[in-house]
Amino acid sequence: MKNDILAIVVPCYNEQEVLDKTNHVLLETLNDLKEKEKISRKSFLLYVNDGSKDRTWELIRGKYEEDPYVRGISLAGNKGHQNALYAGLMYAREKADIAISIDADLQDDVSAIEEMVDKYGEGYDIVYGVRSSREKDSFFKKTTAQGFYKLMNSLGTKTVYNHADFRLMSKRTLDELSLYGETHLFLRGIAPELGFRSTSVSYARKEREAGESKYPFKKMVSFAFDGITSFSVKPLTLILFLGIAAIIFSFVIIIYALVRHFTGATVTGWTSMFASIWFIGGVQLAAIGVVGQYVGKTFIETKKRPRYYISEVLEHNENQETEN
Ligand code: UDP
Ligand code: MG
Repeated sequence: MKNDILAIVVPCYNEQEVLDKTNHVLLETLNDLKEKEKISRKSFLLYVNDGSKDRTWELIRGKYEEDPYVRGISLAGNKGHQNALYAGLMYAREKADIAISIDADLQDDVSAIEEMVDKYGEGYDIVYGVRSSREKDSFFKKTTAQGFYKLMNSLGTKTVYNHADFRLMSKRTLDELSLYGETHLFLRGIAPELGFRSTSVSYARKEREAGESKYPFKKMVSFAFDGITSFSVKPLTLILFLGIAAIIFSFVIIIYALVRHFTGATVTGWTSMFASIWFIGGVQLAAIGVVGQYVGKTFIETKKRPRYYISEVLEHNENQETEN
């Protein structure tokens, strides 16, 4: 374990305000672990620039020039958090034995990193960082996020409750992850599927160190939607049952209409007719919409487009690193 190379993978999108602080804190953590001989001296920090529009990449380059244990890769364009993370993990898979992914804003407690490494030493392949409290998150973020986890689980997507993307993964789990070819990545749903021995460490979630959330409400909703439709076909089953219920209901209406007809009370019934047409129309549209989501997804997935393209890599050569 002492000789295992750890890569701390940090996806960054417009993080210029927080990068100095993050770099300082993470390098300190890394050095501390090296001093304690828990990881190899060759362990490094890997920044993944997700097509930032601000000075993030310049800053990463600066950090790389200052420190032999800082590396960076830059994606051509903004590909989203999950893809950036995946790009970083795939790099780590080639160059390291363990990867820990963490957000750039230091909301996750870096002191949990040591615990994660210890768990790895005990033989766990995946270690989830789990938030013990979300006091520092806004009420809105907290309720929407927790509601989302509950909804996902009830729809059959296995996720670890209150775990985001702060996670340790061993090389063999990364190898397995590399076989997942889907375009719509949802890493926190895939990790539990990999099936290796896993455990979790808990930590208190903090406030963002600087800058603003890069997950506005719109992105959060589409992320949640992705999480469900990429993993679960339950919505399809649900609409099937909804359709059957609607048909049963329509029989009742038909019998009612016939009775009214044969008892001579015609013309009336316009209200129920009108209402049911709209009701059924609505049910159908919603159902087609749900099916459409899957068809749309199949369409995107069959294209097998590349998820990202690495336009630039910053890495010191190996000899130089061991000298330092
Ligand atoms: N991020 C990214 N690409 C994006 C959006 C976000 O790489 O398109 C990164 C971001 O820099 C941060 C992490 O993903 O390191 C999580 O984002 P953020 O902290 O803004 O999300 P929140 O904590 O508010 O959910
Ligand atoms: Mg954050």
